[in-house]
Amino acid sequence: VGERLYLGLDFGTSGARFALIDKGGTIKAEAKREYPLYPSEESYDWIRSWKDTLYLLLEDIPIDLRKHIVSISIDGTSATTIIVDGNTGEPVWRPFLYNESCPDALPMVKSIAPPNHTVCSGSSTLCKLVSWWNNADSNKKSALLLHQADWLLWLLHGKLGISDYNNALKVGYDPEVDSYPSWLVSQSYSHVLPSVVAPGTSIGYLKEDIRTKFGFQEDCVVCSGTTDSIAALLAARATQPGKAVTSLGSTLAIKLLSNTRIEDSRFGVYSHRLDDKWLVGGASNTGGAVLRQLFTDDELEKLSEQINPLEASPLDYYPLPKVGERFPVADPNLAPRLLPRPENDVEYLHGILESIARIEAKAYGLLKDLGATEVDEVFTAGGGAKNDKWIKIRERVLGLPVSSAIQTEAAYGAALLAFKGDQQ
Ligand code: ADP
Repeated sequence: VGERLYLGLDFGTSGARFALIDKGGTIKAEAKREYPLYPSEESYDWIRSWKDTLYLLLEDIPIDLRKHIVSISIDGTSATTIIVDGNTGEPVWRPFLYNESCPDALPMVKSIAPPNHTVCSGSSTLCKLVSWWNNADSNKKSALLLHQADWLLWLLHGKLGISDYNNALKVGYDPEVDSYPSWLVSQSYSHVLPSVVAPGTSIGYLKEDIRTKFGFQEDCVVCSGTTDSIAALLAARATQPGKAVTSLGSTLAIKLLSNTRIEDSRFGVYSHRLDDKWLVGGASNTGGAVLRQLFTDDELEKLSEQINPLEASPLDYYPLPKVGERFPVADPNLAPRLLPRPENDVEYLHGILESIARIEAKAYGLLKDLGATEVDEVFTAGGGAKNDKWIKIRERVLGLPVSSAIQTEAAYGAALLAFKGDQQ
């Protein structure tokens, strides 16, 4: 009946957003909400915050648009882990947050996983699972592990125990062979692992109580989601191999769509699966944090205006906020290099922006050397994306077309997954 709209919800670190798009990708409505904070015994009742925020956002959607929504998807923070009762879906333990570390579980995880596997980090989902398993005394038989997005999606479709291979990467799922590896399946807690589908797979219809309460249409489906960083990347529409997104936020993170999968733990380089392609990523410690140590955002804007981006700066720096770099140079002892500082701040900033661009070029070069598809176009997200002079400098240094991404909100990427689910 009329227009078909697609709803994406993004549950980030401090709040959540929705984006409602049509089949052409035009935004019909969007809104955001901070999480309400409900103090609990240990910290905050995040489960209640997320659940309330989900329903508040559904209410924020203009009523006349709700009946046109045919598909919904959600992204959440990676490695945010919820252990629920497999019969009721109710959490049996407080959630483990994305950045929480469980060092107590690390030795055990390292003893079963291949060396340098992504699960071999204290904040991995698997460390959280093992930590819970070692500490819980009841509910172990009927427990189920869900990621934040999985659990929120369950509130909408009501089928327990389903995840996607982006969220499941950090619990040990192998996206290449599309199954859990044998070293994981053989563990005593393997029955709590969710089943895994591709992101943007239609899972079921929106539950009837929610449909009638909010006035959604009868055949609205709910689709599997992804992680927040992947959703942000989907938003930028780097959909062909060779297309890449550089995020110039506090740090410099690059993501490249590649035909081949590459992994190198020395550089912290790993690949997420996206259908038949791979999203290869790495993050440098250089980026906006250094700029902020030296200049205000206002100064950055004014000084940048005076830079001639067609001229190469002779200044050669390695801007870092503190000692240590991982990608594209793996050296925990690498010291920041920001000297000599010229008297003229325009020249200084030019030198810094150009040096960061050289690090970016080196980063893309390294991905190619490691076997990834060669980059041919770069989109830009984050606070540095609005700097046109920097974009010109980077075009010259990278020798590639560089532009600022039109969409960078993860909620928009989740809406594209909802669209994908509707096309199946
Ligand atoms: P975060 O990673 O913290 O989310 P943002 O994407 O919000 O970062 O970007 C903030 C960064 O952008 C700051 O570190 C700041 O130095 C940088 N920034 C802000 N304005 C400019 C500008 N005009 N040119 C270059 N960088 C900028």
